[in-house]
Amino acid sequence: MARMTPAPSDDRPVVTRFAPSPSGYLHLGHAYSALLNAEHARAAGGRFLLRIEDIDRTRCRPDFEAAILEDLAWLGLAWDEPPLRQSDRLPIYERYLADLEARGLVYRCFKTRRDIADAMAAPHGAPAGAFRGAPLDPEAEQAALAAGRPFAWRLSLATARAALGPVFDRLSFVETTATGRIARPADPARFGDVVLGRKEIGTSYHLAAVVDDALQGVTHVTRGEDLREAAGLHVLLGALFGFAPPVYRHHTLIRGPDGRRLAKRDRAETLRTLRAAGVTPAEVRARLAAV
Ligand code: GLU
Repeated sequence: MARMTPAPSDDRPVVTRFAPSPSGYLHLGHAYSALLNAEHARAAGGRFLLRIEDIDRTRCRPDFEAAILEDLAWLGLAWDEPPLRQSDRLPIYERYLADLEARGLVYRCFKTRRDIADAMAAPHGAPAGAFRGAPLDPEAEQAALAAGRPFAWRLSLATARAALGPVFDRLSFVETTATGRIARPADPARFGDVVLGRKEIGTSYHLAAVVDDALQGVTHVTRGEDLREAAGLHVLLGALFGFAPPVYRHHTLIRGPDGRRLAKRDRAETLRTLRAAGVTPAEVRARLAAV
């Protein structure tokens, strides 16, 4: 019988990563993630990788990427390999998407944002964020393609469920918490038929991150708790590709003085602003060590 989710193997050398998107300056929350990952790798005698997640060319900028490298170096962090840049790897993600396509696990969705909003607002529409669609029939699809209508590739939850059989409902991921390791049910269906190939980009954060974590041999993924549910989807994608899953850890989100979680738009807590105000890397580390 197929295994539920392959158990994360503890004998692989520890590889951690920090994977920022260069769509703004790093803030204290990013510093926290980066430090936890770097410290974990150091303590385990493993490797710490830096990955620049810049597939969205409309939001990402080279000057933000340069600033990320500079800010991390200022914090005293070093990475063990040249940073990997996702925009250089689009053909790789295309191959993985093509594999899913060949297995009927993704379908073309021609719906506009507006169509989807309307479908979700319908009385029996799917809960927010959980759009479930279906491929067009072959003739309509040919016509849409011939008319040059843009489309996204969506994961077919129905086909994924059929492909994995009973394993689908038992997918789980291992998470390190303050009190030890626990297995959490994955529940990937909460995302609906998620977009894996965006119209204008041809891939998506979910697909690119899962493929890269596997190809880079990442054994431990530590990131903010806002991505806990995403781990469930990533485990499903990993299971479809036959990847060994990483162990996850989801850390507390760092909040600003107003109690709200930091976001890229918050200038006050960026590492640049703190540095300009005379805060030292040691003070940033001390503040984050107290979280
Ligand atoms: N690029 C994503 C972000 O900055 C990374 C999420 C992850 O660590 O997988 O939110």
